[in-house]
This record gives sequence, structure tokens and C-alpha cells, in this order.
Amino acid sequence: MIIRFLGTGAADWKGVPESFPGYRYFSSALIDGTLLIDPGPDVFASAERYGIDLSGIKFIINTHSHGDHFSRETLDRLTSAGAVFIPLKEGGFASLCNHKVLALKGNHGTCPDCVHFLIGSGDRVLYYALDGAWLLYEEVEAIKNARALVATTPASANAQGNNPTSSSGPRKPVDMIVLDATIGDVPGDYRIFEHNNLNMDREIRQTLLPYIDRFVISHMALTLHRPHNELSEAMAAEGFTTACDGMTLEI
Ligand SMILES: [Zn+2]
Ligand SMILES: [Zn+2]
Repeated sequence: MIIRFLGTGAADWKGVPESFPGYRYFSSALIDGTLLIDPGPDVFASAERYGIDLSGIKFIINTHSHGDHFSRETLDRLTSAGAVFIPLKEGGFASLCNHKVLALKGNHGTCPDCVHFLIGSGDRVLYYALDGAWLLYEEVEAIKNARALVATTPASANAQGNNPTSSSGPRKPVDMIVLDATIGDVPGDYRIFEHNNLNMDREIRQTLLPYIDRFVISHMALTLHRPHNELSEAMAAEGFTTACDGMTLEI
């Protein structure tokens, strides 16, 4: 499974010039070139900047209706070109060509309908958890049972994706999680009740290491983070990949 990050920023990147160093578009990701997560307002600008081909998009799913994740104009343009929008609510399941998708409720107070996606293709499993603070109990249960829920073929023994830090051994239920990291290391920010800070991501990683192979952070706020290179280096030392726009990850 190939995950291409079209955008990795939070809503406070609005109005920032694209020439800004380490610029981040609003968060969105393209899975295997065919499944788009979040038709936000920046999808076309990002695709143009990073040379990402959108013509193969067959299905579009949406985490929630906040303006940095959903644009009617973007959706209309993509559906006019033949893509199909699959609205998934909490508990919703869809089989979309090679991908099985299960939607789980996310903990995102200002948008109670927010969902996260467990996505399986072959023996690979991704959990996309933007936006949200902490994972809810039901999400953790789904992560533990992920292969039964969305994998289409059994886990191949000892295959470890492309993560050089993986130890050999049986595959974990989830190959990669993309976690909300909106708030950085800023203490005392009330938005922790609907977005993660880095300490929350550290706790989540430490707790879910038995179940998830690779931890990626995304949805970084401009005003609450160090520049990308500094953040990326510091978080790599703690076992995290820091997503940036145009990045391709394979599991
Ligand atoms: Zn957002
Ligand atoms: Zn949101």
C-alpha cells in the first residue's frame, strides 16, 4: 500500500503563502493512487506542486466536514471527472476495489461526526486518525482486531513493510498509523480535548507498540511546532515519522 501525503497541515495554515519554508497544505492523503482521503480545498494545488496524478482516483472518503478537510468545490471537480464519493459514518464499511474501509468514531469535539479509517489492502493495514485527540476505546479494539476486520489476505510471516527499525517477528495488526499531532509540545493548550499534542502521541505509541508497526504524525499546526526539519529529526529519535507534503510512504 502506498500512502501519498497531499497535505499535512492544520487549519491555521490558511492564508500562509505557499513559498513559506516548510509550507503545509491542509491534510489529505492519496492511497494507492485510487482512494482519496479528504477532498480538501488544497488537493489540486498540492497535486500540481508535487506532481501527484489525481486522474486515477476512483473513490473519495471524508473524515469530517471541517473546512480544512472538505471542500464542495474539490469534491464536485473530482466526481465530475468520474470519482465516486462514499460517505461513511461511524461503523460504516465499504469494499472499494482493492481497499476495505471501516470507519470508526474519532474524538473530535467540534465535529462530533468525525470518523477515522481502518484501511486494508491485501495483507497491509493502515489506520488514518485525523483529526482527533486520544484514540477512543473502540478504536483501540478495532486496531487489535484489524486484520480480521479489513485485511483481504492473511499476514505474510515476517514481512515487515519498509520500516528499517522493525524487528523480525509476526506482523502486527496494523502496519502504520497516521496520528493527529496538531499541538506539538505546547503545554496547557485547551485544544488537547480534540487534538493530540506530542506527549499524547508518545503515550499512544508506547501503549500501542505491540499492535502497530509504524507511527506517523501529521496535521501539524503552523503556530505550535518547530520547523519541519527540526521536528522530524527530534521525532525520528523517538520512533515517529513526521509527515510532510508530497511524502510517499509504503507499507
Ligand atoms: Zn483539521
Ligand atoms: Zn477538524
